[in-house]
Amino acid sequence: MALEMTQNMGGSSGWLLGTSHMVGSPDGVTLYPRFGLVLMLTHACNLRCTYCYTGAKFGRPMPEHLGRRAIDRALASLEPGGTLELGFFGGEPLLAAGLLSGLLAYARERAAEQDACLRTGLTTNGTIGTAEAWRILLDPEVDVAVSHDGLPCEHNRHRQWECGCGTSARVLRTVKRLVRSGEDFRVVMVVRPDTVDMLPAGIQFLRSLGVRQMEPSLDLWTRWSSDDVLALEDAVQRCAAIWRGGLPDLSISWFDEKAARLAGVPTGETARCSFGSGEVAVAPSGALYPCERLIGEDTACNPMRLPGCVPDGDDFLALGPASPCTRPACKVCSVADLCNTDCRCSNYVRTGDPARPDGLLCALNRSCMEATARVIGAADAEDEA
Ligand code: SF4
Ligand code: SF4
Repeated sequence: MALEMTQNMGGSSGWLLGTSHMVGSPDGVTLYPRFGLVLMLTHACNLRCTYCYTGAKFGRPMPEHLGRRAIDRALASLEPGGTLELGFFGGEPLLAAGLLSGLLAYARERAAEQDACLRTGLTTNGTIGTAEAWRILLDPEVDVAVSHDGLPCEHNRHRQWECGCGTSARVLRTVKRLVRSGEDFRVVMVVRPDTVDMLPAGIQFLRSLGVRQMEPSLDLWTRWSSDDVLALEDAVQRCAAIWRGGLPDLSISWFDEKAARLAGVPTGETARCSFGSGEVAVAPSGALYPCERLIGEDTACNPMRLPGCVPDGDDFLALGPASPCTRPACKVCSVADLCNTDCRCSNYVRTGDPARPDGLLCALNRSCMEATARVIGAADAEDEA
């Protein structure tokens, strides 16, 4: 599930809009109104996706006491009545379904004691069918995202079992069961240069199965040529046409979010993309990172490791402040207010600088904005006619 969880162009049903800001309390301690904690439960995965960026798959699950301690520290970082956004990551988190259930129960108990709100979510590769996994998948309070890359043939190009065979048939069984159950869930579609052209067809295919919420997610770890970016822009326009035809039942994150921003509709505040300041990711070892996408194999030489470790401390208040955008073009950009290239993890992956997006992220934002504005404009014109 690794690639899909936290792309910056996030889902409207998820927590991916806005960012968390610290708030001062009367006694001078600065607490957060919301705090994002992502626990990487295991490095293990039963898939071998060609584009996976988390490195070697090995069985080193997070000890439960470390997960509990991280939850305690995150709750201690919240102002009274604040919200803990707790995510589970891997590897494949449902390979550690027992651990996940235990930590979920613990977080619920501790949040209730503290009168804190709790939001929970996971992204899964959709291939784990144990009874315990299904209890989590069908839990109405867990925000579930299943990874399926559009059309089965596109999915099977990259999302494969260890033997190299495609996993689409297995994942679609999960998707169909979730649709039958009436659960709200999202399908995350990783979009790459070799699959971007078929993205609109993939959205139509998933829609025909009854999926209503889709979250395209760019593969930021691969090279996008200028022709690929043109193909992306073209796909965005075609996807926007599908979105328009499916409204109000169809949610495509790229456009939902832009529509909310364009309409000035308040979007749900979230700790996502706070990058260490109001959000922390924890590796199975207990090491800390600003985002789960940067954990990889969690080696000691990983430059993105934050100081400290889960057992060292009572809260997460001392982690670094957010860095402002340093891309000169953004400072004079007329659509900067509507842009969400403030995901520092995505920026870091693309440019090596958390504060600087690259041309790919800029092109995606601009085309989503243009396409969404066109759809809204056309709808307004129809209303007036
Ligand atoms: S399902 Fe497993 S192999 Fe595929 S991207 Fe996620 S962690 Fe990597
Ligand atoms: S659209 Fe491009 S130039 Fe404008 S703020 Fe976003 S990344 Fe910067």
